[in-house]
Amino acid sequence: MLNGQEITVLGAGIAGLAVATALAQRGAQVRVLEQADAIREVGAGLQVTPNGVAVLRALGLEGALQAAAPLARAVQLRDFRRGDPVFRLDLTRPDRPYHLTHRADLINILRQGASEAGARIELGQHVTGVDPEAGQMQVNGHTETAPLIIGAGGLHSPTRAALNPGGQPFFTGQVAWRSTIPWDDPTTPPEATVHMGPGRHLVTYPLRGGALLNVVAVEERDAWAAEGWHHRDDPQAPWRAFVDFCPEVRDILYRAEEVFLWGLFRHPVARNWGQGRAVILGDAAHPTLPFLAQGANMALEDAWVLAECLDTHATTEAAFAAYQARRRPRAARVIDAASRNARNYHLHPGPTRAAAHLALKLGTRLAPGLAARQFEWLYGHDVTRH
Ligand SMILES: Cc1cc2nc3c(=O)[nH]c(=O)nc-3n(C[C@H](O)[C@H](O)[C@H](O)COP(=O)(O)OP(=O)(O)OC[C@H]3O[C@@H](n4cnc5c(N)ncnc54)[C@H](O)[C@@H]3O)c2cc1C
Repeated sequence: MLNGQEITVLGAGIAGLAVATALAQRGAQVRVLEQADAIREVGAGLQVTPNGVAVLRALGLEGALQAAAPLARAVQLRDFRRGDPVFRLDLTRPDRPYHLTHRADLINILRQGASEAGARIELGQHVTGVDPEAGQMQVNGHTETAPLIIGAGGLHSPTRAALNPGGQPFFTGQVAWRSTIPWDDPTTPPEATVHMGPGRHLVTYPLRGGALLNVVAVEERDAWAAEGWHHRDDPQAPWRAFVDFCPEVRDILYRAEEVFLWGLFRHPVARNWGQGRAVILGDAAHPTLPFLAQGANMALEDAWVLAECLDTHATTEAAFAAYQARRRPRAARVIDAASRNARNYHLHPGPTRAAAHLALKLGTRLAPGLAARQFEWLYGHDVTRH
C-alpha cells in the first residue's frame, strides 16, 4: 500500500528519522522537515535497550550500532552514602543486546539509514501549525499540503497540539544536570550505574570505549526549571546538590566542566494519536521521565509499528486505529514504570527504604535470573515479530 505514497515527517529526531527509514524502505516517498539548520546532536548518552535494538536490526542498522557503541554488561544500583551495591541486572544475554551509545552516533546511523532508503531531509523548515483534516501545515510562514503528515516534533509538537487541543506540558518536579566528561579510561566497565539518594540520583556510564563518561544527575525540585538540551548551569551546582553522596560521585561531578540543566516536562500520554491525515509518534505522543531509559526506544518501536500499520491496512483511518491500539497501552505501561523508578530511586532513609533495598539485595544474591525475568516484558518485546 505504501508504494509511491507521499509522506511528510515533521522532525528529524530519533522518532522522525526512524519512521522515515521504515517508510522509505517500504516504498514510500518520504520528506522530512526539520527546523534546525543542521542535524547536530548534543553530547549525551543514550541507552539503546534490546527492544529498541530489535527495531534497528529490522531496519538493517544493527551492524552500524554495534560498530559505534559497546554492549552494556550490567545496570547496577548503589546506595548514595557509601556506594554499596544494592542491585545488579546482568545484561550479557546474547539475544538481548543492550548498547550504551552517544546520541550523535545514533542520530547519524538513523540519518544515514533514512537517506540510503531514499528519504529526503530538508533543514531549516519550521512548522508552526498543522490542520489534520485538510492535511495542511504552516512551514516557515507558508501553507503546504501533504497527503499524510507524521508529527515527530517531540514535546512541543504542533501535530500533537492539533490532534489533542488544550494541553500544555507540565513540570514533573524533577531536574536533570547532564554532562559528558572527557574520561579517557578504556578500563571503565560498560555498565550503567545509578547512585540512589534521598530526592536525588546520579546515572553514569562510559561512552565511545571509555573516552567519555555520560553523567545525568537528577534532583527533585518544587521550582520550575527551563526545558531543553542547551541551558548551561554552574558546574558547581550539581556538586553542591550531591555533596552528601560518596566520594566516587563527588569526584565525578567535580570533573564536570560543562554542565547543562534540564527541567523535565511531560504531557499525559496523548488520547488521540491520529486523525484525518495526521498522526504522531515518539515524545510527541508520550513524553516520559528518562528513568527507565525508554523515550528513544519507545520512539523506535512506534516507528516500526506505524510504518507496518500504514503498509498493511487498506485505509489511513484503519492504520491509525490499529497503530494506536498497539502502541498506547505499551507506552502507558512504560511511562508508569519510569515514574515508579523516580519514587523508588529517591526514597528517604527510613524503614521503607531499608526494606526496599534489602529486598533488592536479596533478589540480586539469591535469584539473579528472577531479576532479569522482571524486565522481560520490557526488553523481550520485539515489535518486528508481532
Ligand atoms: C537526560 C535525558 C536522558 C535520556 N536518556 C534516554 C535513554 O538512555 N534512552 C532512551 O531511550 N531515551 C532517553 N531519553 C529520552 C529521549 O531523549 C527522548 O524520548 C527522545 O529523544 C524522543 O525522540 P523524538 O524524536 O520523539 O523527539 P525529539 O528528540 O525531541 O526530536 C524532535 C525533533 O523535531 C524537531 N522539531 C521540533 N519542533 C519542530 C517544528 N515545529 N518544526 C520542525 N521541526 C521540529 C526538533 O528540532 C527535533 O529534531 C532521555 C531524555 C533525557 C532528557
